[in-house]
Amino acid sequence: MALYTMAEILADAQKRGYGAGFFNGVNQEMIRAYIRAANDCRSPIIIGTAEGLLKYSDFDWLAPLLLDAAARAKVPVAVHLDHTYTYKTIMRALRAGFGSVMYDGSLLSYEENIRDSAEIAKAAHAMGAGLECELGKVGGLDEGEGVKGGNIYTDPGEAFEFVERSGADFLAVSIGTVHGEYRETPRLDLARLAAIRAKVKCPLVLHGGSGLSDDDFRNCIQGGIRKVNIYTDIITAAAGAIRKDTSLAYTDLNEKAEQAMYEAAVKKLRIFGSDNKY
Ligand SMILES: [Zn+2]
Repeated sequence: MALYTMAEILADAQKRGYGAGFFNGVNQEMIRAYIRAANDCRSPIIIGTAEGLLKYSDFDWLAPLLLDAAARAKVPVAVHLDHTYTYKTIMRALRAGFGSVMYDGSLLSYEENIRDSAEIAKAAHAMGAGLECELGKVGGLDEGEGVKGGNIYTDPGEAFEFVERSGADFLAVSIGTVHGEYRETPRLDLARLAAIRAKVKCPLVLHGGSGLSDDDFRNCIQGGIRKVNIYTDIITAAAGAIRKDTSLAYTDLNEKAEQAMYEAAVKKLRIFGSDNKY
Protein backbone atom coordinates (compact mmCIF):
# COMPACT_ATOMS: atom_id res chain seq x y z
CA MET A 1 0.00 0.00 0.00
CA ALA A 2 1.25 3.49 -0.81
CA LEU A 3 2.62 5.61 1.99
CA TYR A 4 -0.08 7.73 3.60
CA THR A 5 0.30 11.15 5.21
CA MET A 6 -0.81 12.07 8.69
CA ALA A 7 -3.13 14.67 7.14
CA GLU A 8 -4.95 11.94 5.22
CA ILE A 9 -5.24 9.67 8.24
CA LEU A 10 -6.41 12.43 10.58
CA ALA A 11 -8.92 13.71 8.02
CA ASP A 12 -10.51 10.27 8.06
CA ALA A 13 -10.38 10.15 11.88
CA GLN A 14 -12.04 13.57 11.95
CA LYS A 15 -14.76 12.45 9.56
CA ARG A 16 -15.52 9.20 11.36
CA GLY A 17 -14.91 10.36 14.93
CA TYR A 18 -12.10 8.08 16.08
CA GLY A 19 -8.57 8.64 17.37
CA ALA A 20 -5.47 7.58 15.44
CA GLY A 21 -2.56 6.17 17.44
CA PHE A 22 0.92 7.60 17.02
CA PHE A 23 3.79 5.33 18.05
CA ASN A 24 7.47 6.20 18.27
CA GLY A 25 10.01 3.54 17.37
CA VAL A 26 13.77 3.24 17.45
CA ASN A 27 14.31 -0.27 16.10
CA GLN A 28 12.86 -3.06 14.00
CA GLU A 29 11.06 -4.79 16.88
CA MET A 30 9.12 -1.67 17.85
CA ILE A 31 8.16 -0.79 14.29
CA ARG A 32 7.19 -4.35 13.43
CA ALA A 33 5.03 -4.57 16.56
CA TYR A 34 3.10 -1.45 15.50
CA ILE A 35 2.65 -2.57 11.90
CA ARG A 36 1.48 -6.03 12.98
CA ALA A 37 -0.98 -4.43 15.40
CA ALA A 38 -2.31 -2.10 12.68
CA ASN A 39 -2.63 -4.91 10.13
CA ASP A 40 -4.37 -7.26 12.56
CA CYS A 41 -6.78 -4.56 13.82
CA ARG A 42 -7.40 -3.16 10.32
CA SER A 43 -6.46 0.16 11.86
CA PRO A 44 -4.75 3.17 10.28
CA ILE A 45 -1.78 4.31 12.40
CA ILE A 46 1.06 6.81 12.42
CA ILE A 47 4.61 5.77 13.25
CA GLY A 48 7.76 7.82 13.65
CA THR A 49 10.55 9.02 15.82
CA ALA A 50 11.51 12.17 17.73
CA GLU A 51 14.65 14.30 17.86
CA GLY A 52 15.26 13.18 21.44
CA LEU A 53 15.12 9.51 20.39
CA LEU A 54 17.81 9.80 17.73
CA LYS A 55 20.41 9.07 20.42
CA TYR A 56 19.03 5.49 20.35
CA SER A 57 19.00 5.11 16.58
CA ASP A 58 20.71 7.18 13.94
CA PHE A 59 18.27 8.92 11.59
CA ASP A 60 19.90 7.48 8.46
CA TRP A 61 19.31 3.93 9.71
CA LEU A 62 15.87 4.53 11.11
CA ALA A 63 14.17 6.64 8.41
CA PRO A 64 14.29 3.99 5.63
CA LEU A 65 13.03 1.38 8.11
CA LEU A 66 10.02 3.53 9.07
CA LEU A 67 9.18 4.52 5.50
CA ASP A 68 9.56 1.02 4.11
CA ALA A 69 7.51 -0.59 6.89
CA ALA A 70 4.73 2.00 6.44
CA ALA A 71 4.61 1.52 2.68
CA ARG A 72 4.41 -2.27 3.00
CA ALA A 73 1.57 -2.28 5.58
CA LYS A 74 -1.86 -3.63 4.60
CA VAL A 75 -3.57 -0.57 6.09
CA PRO A 76 -2.87 3.19 5.83
CA VAL A 77 0.29 4.08 7.78
CA ALA A 78 1.90 7.53 7.90
CA VAL A 79 5.42 8.47 9.00
CA HIS A 80 5.77 11.52 11.25
CA LEU A 81 8.61 13.24 13.06
CA ASP A 82 7.62 13.82 16.70
CA HIS A 83 8.97 16.54 19.09
CA THR A 84 11.74 18.37 17.27
CA TYR A 85 13.39 21.60 18.26
CA THR A 86 15.82 22.26 15.39
CA TYR A 87 15.34 23.29 11.78
CA LYS A 88 18.10 20.88 10.77
CA THR A 89 16.32 17.75 11.98
CA ILE A 90 12.98 18.94 10.55
CA MET A 91 14.59 19.39 7.13
CA ARG A 92 16.23 15.98 7.35
CA ALA A 93 12.84 14.33 7.88
CA LEU A 94 11.14 16.36 5.14
CA ARG A 95 13.88 15.46 2.66
CA ALA A 96 13.66 11.79 3.66
CA GLY A 97 9.94 11.77 2.76
CA PHE A 98 8.15 12.03 6.11
CA GLY A 99 4.64 13.29 5.47
CA SER A 100 4.57 15.46 8.59
CA VAL A 101 6.76 16.89 11.33
CA MET A 102 6.24 18.34 14.79
CA TYR A 103 8.02 21.53 15.66
CA ASP A 104 7.90 21.94 19.43
CA GLY A 105 8.14 25.62 20.32
CA SER A 106 6.23 25.14 23.56
CA LEU A 107 9.26 26.14 25.63
CA LEU A 108 9.41 29.52 23.87
CA SER A 109 7.20 32.55 24.47
CA TYR A 110 3.85 32.66 22.66
CA GLU A 111 5.10 35.13 20.02
CA GLU A 112 8.38 33.25 19.48
CA ASN A 113 6.47 30.00 19.11
CA ILE A 114 4.25 31.58 16.42
CA ARG A 115 7.23 33.13 14.61
CA ASP A 116 9.28 29.89 14.46
CA SER A 117 6.28 27.68 13.72
CA ALA A 118 5.23 29.93 10.81
CA GLU A 119 8.74 29.74 9.38
CA ILE A 120 8.74 25.94 9.54
CA ALA A 121 5.17 25.71 8.22
CA LYS A 122 6.36 27.43 5.03
CA ALA A 123 9.15 24.88 4.52
CA ALA A 124 6.90 21.92 5.32
CA HIS A 125 4.07 23.08 3.07
CA ALA A 126 6.49 23.79 0.21
CA MET A 127 7.50 20.13 0.42
CA GLY A 128 3.91 18.90 0.58
CA ALA A 129 4.13 17.98 4.27
CA GLY A 130 2.06 18.89 7.32
CA LEU A 131 3.15 20.59 10.53
CA GLU A 132 2.15 19.78 14.11
CA CYS A 133 2.77 22.42 16.76
CA GLU A 134 2.27 22.52 20.49
CA LEU A 135 0.64 25.38 22.34
CA GLY A 136 0.73 25.49 26.10
CA LYS A 137 3.08 22.88 27.42
CA VAL A 138 2.64 19.18 28.14
CA GLY A 139 5.26 18.70 30.85
CA GLY A 140 7.45 15.73 31.64
CA LEU A 141 9.90 15.75 28.74
CA ASP A 142 13.58 16.16 29.48
CA GLU A 143 13.50 19.93 29.50
CA GLY A 144 17.14 20.61 30.28
CA GLU A 145 18.75 22.51 33.07
CA GLY A 146 17.17 25.68 34.32
CA VAL A 147 13.80 24.89 32.74
CA LYS A 148 11.00 24.10 35.13
CA GLY A 149 8.86 21.06 34.37
CA GLY A 150 5.09 20.96 34.70
CA ASN A 151 2.13 21.88 32.57
CA ILE A 152 0.97 25.12 31.05
CA TYR A 153 -2.62 24.61 29.92
CA THR A 154 -3.61 25.65 26.40
CA ASP A 155 -5.73 28.80 26.24
CA PRO A 156 -8.62 28.35 23.76
CA GLY A 157 -8.49 31.94 22.44
CA GLU A 158 -4.74 31.75 21.94
CA ALA A 159 -5.15 28.38 20.23
CA PHE A 160 -7.39 29.92 17.57
CA GLU A 161 -5.00 32.81 16.94
CA PHE A 162 -1.97 30.51 17.01
CA VAL A 163 -3.30 28.22 14.28
CA GLU A 164 -4.32 31.21 12.12
CA ARG A 165 -0.97 32.96 12.39
CA SER A 166 1.41 29.97 12.37
CA GLY A 167 -0.24 27.94 9.63
CA ALA A 168 -0.04 24.78 11.76
CA ASP A 169 -1.99 21.81 10.37
CA PHE A 170 -2.33 19.89 13.65
CA LEU A 171 -2.30 21.25 17.18
CA ALA A 172 -1.04 19.47 20.31
CA VAL A 173 -2.94 20.76 23.31
CA SER A 174 -2.20 20.72 27.01
CA ILE A 175 -5.31 19.71 28.97
CA GLY A 176 -3.83 17.90 31.96
CA THR A 177 -1.71 15.07 30.58
CA VAL A 178 2.02 14.69 31.28
CA HIS A 179 4.76 12.91 29.31
CA GLY A 180 6.19 9.74 30.84
CA GLU A 181 4.91 8.01 33.95
CA TYR A 182 2.37 9.72 36.19
CA ARG A 183 3.23 10.36 39.81
CA GLU A 184 -0.42 11.00 40.61
CA THR A 185 -3.76 10.35 38.89
CA PRO A 186 -4.08 12.78 35.95
CA ARG A 187 -6.99 15.22 35.99
CA LEU A 188 -8.15 16.03 32.50
CA ASP A 189 -9.72 19.40 31.76
CA LEU A 190 -12.39 18.28 29.30
CA ALA A 191 -14.20 21.63 29.46
CA ARG A 192 -11.03 23.27 28.18
CA LEU A 193 -10.80 20.69 25.38
CA ALA A 194 -14.39 21.48 24.38
CA ALA A 195 -13.61 25.22 24.36
CA ILE A 196 -10.53 24.65 22.17
CA ARG A 197 -12.49 22.36 19.85
CA ALA A 198 -15.16 25.03 19.41
CA LYS A 199 -12.55 27.50 18.16
CA VAL A 200 -9.96 25.36 16.34
CA LYS A 201 -10.89 23.39 13.25
CA CYS A 202 -7.61 21.52 12.61
CA PRO A 203 -7.11 18.05 14.14
CA LEU A 204 -6.12 18.14 17.83
CA VAL A 205 -3.37 15.98 19.30
CA LEU A 206 -3.01 14.50 22.77
CA HIS A 207 0.50 13.95 24.12
CA GLY A 208 1.35 12.23 27.39
CA GLY A 209 -1.40 9.64 26.93
CA SER A 210 0.34 6.74 28.66
CA GLY A 211 -1.22 6.09 32.04
CA LEU A 212 -4.66 7.49 31.25
CA SER A 213 -7.67 5.26 31.88
CA ASP A 214 -9.62 3.77 28.98
CA ASP A 215 -12.46 6.17 29.75
CA ASP A 216 -10.09 9.15 29.75
CA PHE A 217 -9.07 8.24 26.20
CA ARG A 218 -12.66 7.78 25.08
CA ASN A 219 -13.67 11.11 26.60
CA CYS A 220 -10.77 12.92 24.92
CA ILE A 221 -11.57 11.38 21.53
CA GLN A 222 -15.23 12.19 21.95
CA GLY A 223 -14.12 15.71 22.82
CA GLY A 224 -12.25 16.09 19.54
CA ILE A 225 -8.77 14.57 19.97
CA ARG A 226 -7.80 12.91 16.67
CA LYS A 227 -4.21 11.78 17.29
CA VAL A 228 -3.03 10.13 20.47
CA ASN A 229 0.70 9.79 21.15
CA ILE A 230 1.62 6.63 23.03
CA TYR A 231 5.16 5.78 24.00
CA THR A 232 5.72 5.10 27.70
CA ASP A 233 3.05 2.37 27.88
CA ILE A 234 4.77 0.60 24.98
CA ILE A 235 8.31 0.63 26.33
CA THR A 236 7.04 -0.28 29.80
CA ALA A 237 5.34 -3.36 28.33
CA ALA A 238 8.57 -4.35 26.55
CA ALA A 239 10.70 -3.91 29.66
CA GLY A 240 8.22 -5.92 31.72
CA ALA A 241 8.37 -8.81 29.26
CA ILE A 242 12.17 -8.82 29.30
CA ARG A 243 12.36 -8.76 33.10
CA LYS A 244 10.09 -11.80 33.33
CA ASP A 245 12.84 -14.15 32.14
CA THR A 246 16.27 -12.62 31.91
CA SER A 247 17.88 -16.04 31.34
CA LEU A 248 16.67 -16.09 27.72
CA ALA A 249 19.00 -15.48 24.79
CA TYR A 250 19.13 -11.90 23.50
CA THR A 251 17.27 -12.80 20.31
CA ASP A 252 14.48 -14.46 22.30
CA LEU A 253 14.24 -11.46 24.63
CA ASN A 254 13.71 -9.30 21.54
CA GLU A 255 10.88 -11.55 20.46
CA LYS A 256 9.22 -11.38 23.91
CA ALA A 257 9.56 -7.60 23.94
CA GLU A 258 8.06 -7.31 20.46
CA GLN A 259 5.08 -9.47 21.39
CA ALA A 260 4.42 -7.36 24.52
CA MET A 261 4.58 -4.14 22.48
CA TYR A 262 2.26 -5.64 19.87
CA GLU A 263 -0.31 -6.52 22.55
CA ALA A 264 -0.04 -3.09 24.17
CA ALA A 265 -0.55 -1.40 20.79
CA VAL A 266 -3.56 -3.58 19.91
CA LYS A 267 -5.18 -2.67 23.21
CA LYS A 268 -4.76 1.03 22.50
CA LEU A 269 -6.06 0.85 18.91
CA ARG A 270 -9.27 -0.77 20.17
CA ILE A 271 -9.73 1.87 22.88
CA PHE A 272 -9.16 4.65 20.32
CA GLY A 273 -11.87 3.15 18.10
CA SER A 274 -9.58 3.02 15.08
CA ASP A 275 -9.92 -0.76 14.66
CA ASN A 276 -11.85 -2.15 11.68
CA LYS A 277 -11.67 1.16 9.90
CA TYR A 278 -9.94 -0.15 6.83
ZN1 LIG B 1 4.81 14.76 23.33
